[in-house]
Amino acid sequence: MIEVNNINVYYDKAQALTNLSMSVKEGQVVSVIGANGAGKTTIMKTIMGLVRPTNGSVKFIGNNISHLPTHKIVESGIIYVPEGRRIFSTLSVYDNLEMGGYSKTYSKKELKERIEEQFNFFPRLKDRMNQKGGSLSGGEQQMLAIARGLMSQPKLLMLDEPSLGLAPIIIEDIFKIIVDINKEKKIPIILVEQNAYMALEISNRAYVLESGVIVKEGSSVALRESSDIIKAYLGG
Ligand code: ATP
Repeated sequence: MIEVNNINVYYDKAQALTNLSMSVKEGQVVSVIGANGAGKTTIMKTIMGLVRPTNGSVKFIGNNISHLPTHKIVESGIIYVPEGRRIFSTLSVYDNLEMGGYSKTYSKKELKERIEEQFNFFPRLKDRMNQKGGSLSGGEQQMLAIARGLMSQPKLLMLDEPSLGLAPIIIEDIFKIIVDINKEKKIPIILVEQNAYMALEISNRAYVLESGVIVKEGSSVALRESSDIIKAYLGG
């Protein structure tokens, strides 16, 4: 589905990613875990064409997308929900969702149907459809950010720290939604998380990133049992 091959990324002279390769197959949830500043967001930004690697490539469904502008990458079916739930706080929930369909040439009827789909999936958003985005709770804003991303029916969804700043009980809701999206909508997901425990709990495979280098990869079940990972990331 997506293959990142041996990329190097720099911010000026500082190297953020080093010889990094990763891949996601159809149907999988793949998590990228690592501490603050390890380079997790940079991977997402590179896939979206927001930063450019100095070498290597990103292939999506067999096509090299490394040199495409971001809007073409979005059109090709990759949706990135950035850290910090950047919803439009002065727009209503409904209008936020409408904005999510912008990259598609939906008819009015299709747009309505897509919004209805989100409301079926996120009933809480339906209850609040006329409320301004900024008036929602943190968890609801995260749901809105994800729902907005789903409006364009992505082929790959990338979620950057969806649990950030949320209470544990709300984090559970959000992770359940992520699993449901993957299972019911059959959308593969790249999940970037500092919350390694939850990320390993719901993903099929995972990459562990330290200072821009993948230091471990494998099935999430195996990583959950690895003593290095338990020590470094699971509070063991
Ligand atoms: P966080 O969880 O804090 O978002 P992260 O793992 O996503 O961390 P990145 O945001 O990808 O990490 O950052 C990787 C490294 O690149 C860090 O050292 C960071 O300071 C640096 N960096 C990130 N963005 C820029 C930028 N625009 N200019 C310069 N350096 C940057």
